[in-house]
Amino acid sequence: MIRIGIPQALLYYQYYPMWKTFFEELGSQVVISPSTTQAMLSQGSSRVVADTCLPVKVFLGHVLSLVGKCDYIFIPAIRSVKRRVYNCSKFLGLPDMTKAVIPESPPILDIDIDINKGKRDLYQSIYKLGRRFTWNPFKVRQASMAAWQAHLDYQKLMSSHGLTPPQAIERISGTLEATPKTHSSHSTSTRGTIALIGHPYLLYDEHINHRFIHRLEQAGYKVLTPEMLTAKGLETAIVRLAGSSYWTYEEEVVGAGEHYLESEADGVIGIMTFGCGPDSVMMDMVRQQANRLKTTAFMSLTLEEHTAEAGVVTRLEAFLDMIHRRKRRQVEVCV
Ligand code: SF4
Repeated sequence: MIRIGIPQALLYYQYYPMWKTFFEELGSQVVISPSTTQAMLSQGSSRVVADTCLPVKVFLGHVLSLVGKCDYIFIPAIRSVKRRVYNCSKFLGLPDMTKAVIPESPPILDIDIDINKGKRDLYQSIYKLGRRFTWNPFKVRQASMAAWQAHLDYQKLMSSHGLTPPQAIERISGTLEATPKTHSSHSTSTRGTIALIGHPYLLYDEHINHRFIHRLEQAGYKVLTPEMLTAKGLETAIVRLAGSSYWTYEEEVVGAGEHYLESEADGVIGIMTFGCGPDSVMMDMVRQQANRLKTTAFMSLTLEEHTAEAGVVTRLEAFLDMIHRRKRRQVEVCV
């Protein structure tokens, strides 16, 4: 059986159930890389120039960890998944960059996804990928339809049950294998609710964010994330704040930020990485909105390769302390 490696990094959290279903429907076995470790990050980092963003360094570390464990590695080049909405350039060149800096990588299965080129081009790309496994176009069609359904089910599971991607993946696969530890979004809230905004590869990679969700839950806060909102809710929020999207995955930052600033959260924390152009623009929009509304506390946290755990803990403690004092003041005013 052909083994397809999928790095547990970057777009893994958005699309893993879809990709897994597609390859398994075509008779392959899917192998995912383990959770990020410092060694993986260091190895990934050693292959690129220093100012490459942290998530790409992590991704390359995951690719290296799959060398020798699979026959192919799946690395799509996702340019656009919505009309006139574009992805960060790092995603566009990911297969080529990986080939260039990790020559020992197993052969890369790549696919160009650009919705602006029309449906016909998209179908052709999918068939081209599927032809590596079967010459039967009906089988490829069946696999792609099953994969799309798996994706819709995954999104619905997260939004209707308030699950994070790792929790949903765990629930779908019925196994804890190689998924990050469970985040209990349903933990009893004793102190309040904090919404996290940012890309899944930052929010759910416990190594690079120093177990941020776990720390919030340990401090007694219920954690909300972008995936717990519906696509429609996120889009409405983007329209309210920015008019329309320009960047792919803008809903994870601007949409979720605007929604949570205006709703149920006591505080909103934006997580981004140093040197990320799209995120610095998007996070700034959310920050400005927080300043305008003045109803919900906002903090942005910038991670990089050498971010110390103590620094993250100190920022978090100071923010939670401020929220606690705010809430106490509100209670005193009401009394
Ligand atoms: S959006 Fe930012 S963090 Fe994500 S891959 Fe692009 S540059 Fe890196």
